[in-house]
Amino acid sequence: MKKTPMEEWIIKRTGISPANPKELETYQLKKIVETLNYAKKNSAFYQKQLEGIDPEQIKSWEDFYQLSFTSAKDIKNDPFAFLCVPQSQIDRIVTLNTSGTSGKKKRIFFTDADLQKTVDFFDYGMRSLVDSTDRVMVLLPGQAYGTIGNLLKKALERTKTACVVYGLLTDLDAVEKIMIENKINCIVGIPIQVLYLSRMKQEGFKSMEKVLLSTDYVPQAMVAEFKRKFGCQVFNHYGMTEMGYGGGVDCQALNGYHLREGDLYVEIIDPVSGKPVADGVYGEVVFTSFDREAMPLIRYRTGDIGAFSQATCQCGTFLRTMKKVEGRINNRVYFEDGIYFDLKALEEILLAIEDLVDYQLIVSDKHSLRIDVSFYNEEQSAEKENRVKMMVQEYFDKNCELPIQVEAVKNQLQKPDQLVNSMVKRKIVDLRREKSNE
Ligand SMILES: [Zn+2]
Repeated sequence: MKKTPMEEWIIKRTGISPANPKELETYQLKKIVETLNYAKKNSAFYQKQLEGIDPEQIKSWEDFYQLSFTSAKDIKNDPFAFLCVPQSQIDRIVTLNTSGTSGKKKRIFFTDADLQKTVDFFDYGMRSLVDSTDRVMVLLPGQAYGTIGNLLKKALERTKTACVVYGLLTDLDAVEKIMIENKINCIVGIPIQVLYLSRMKQEGFKSMEKVLLSTDYVPQAMVAEFKRKFGCQVFNHYGMTEMGYGGGVDCQALNGYHLREGDLYVEIIDPVSGKPVADGVYGEVVFTSFDREAMPLIRYRTGDIGAFSQATCQCGTFLRTMKKVEGRINNRVYFEDGIYFDLKALEEILLAIEDLVDYQLIVSDKHSLRIDVSFYNEEQSAEKENRVKMMVQEYFDKNCELPIQVEAVKNQLQKPDQLVNSMVKRKIVDLRREKSNE
């Protein structure tokens, strides 16, 4: 098995010698102190947040763990307060769709140098799965300069790997044509969209050997289906715009991500106490980015649930391995005090149903759950609705202490361009919460 190419890259980038975890941590702590100094000097937000803190006095991880977290809300409240360079030096601004009607939006800023670092990561990250003999198709936004698809293409050009950037999946026929004409054998995209494509265009998908899923939690049922139907290797990428799009990627062991540790320091914390948890224990993913010009983030709470693996990776790297992200912390719905369900558990059940294209869960009171389902094939939809209802009802009867009434309702078949929205669409609608927020 090939060792993750990320290791070679991180050694090169950090210059650590000998290459071992201890040296890497020493490097990361040094970079964090630099970042604290830089952010405190240049960003209005951190000037305030780090008031009374002398970065030079941060000499251990214990010291670092005393620092306050940064939250998504902080960015939403005033993104410009995070800026460390004049706006004229910003080359890309990403505005993230966030739920709620407050009108406040999360904005993430990049300079050209920040974007180049992402290209570096994509270059080495992609070497985990492809080389110059492969043909890659990217179903992520890629038209404009500095978009994720655009940076990925630049990264693949370095290794002379053929790459077509289509953008988000909107036209199934057009995508199938490109797949066939370009003999695409590797596809990069959002899990639900790639699944949809593979279910709708089995013929075009036949020659797919590798799938790289990004931007969202990947249910096991989906991985199993790609393997079973197409013999695909399924790689996961973990990242978010705040990290500079990329964060970590599976190696050939396909058993968790190796992280961009030369640019990021990642922690897993107990979401309630805020204290770091031991390896192997799930908690909230928190990161600090260094060497970032426009908008470094310090102890940023991602809201994702993750854990570090206790074992070293089979690929033989000294880098840490982060287990597959288990979804979002707020994708948990409480029916009553202490009685809840996780989107993840239901997603495993729902996505195993091959006719299903998309779904949404609606909770209106503490006794009932409605599932709006879309099928790509409308035949016998009453039976399918019933099947969904039975499977989910069975799950609740077995796993929930409260009697929960499950209802499944067919939604109109969504067109692919509507599916694009499922990238950001919340899968759970809690009508009680919406009410109390009004
Ligand atoms: Zn590995």
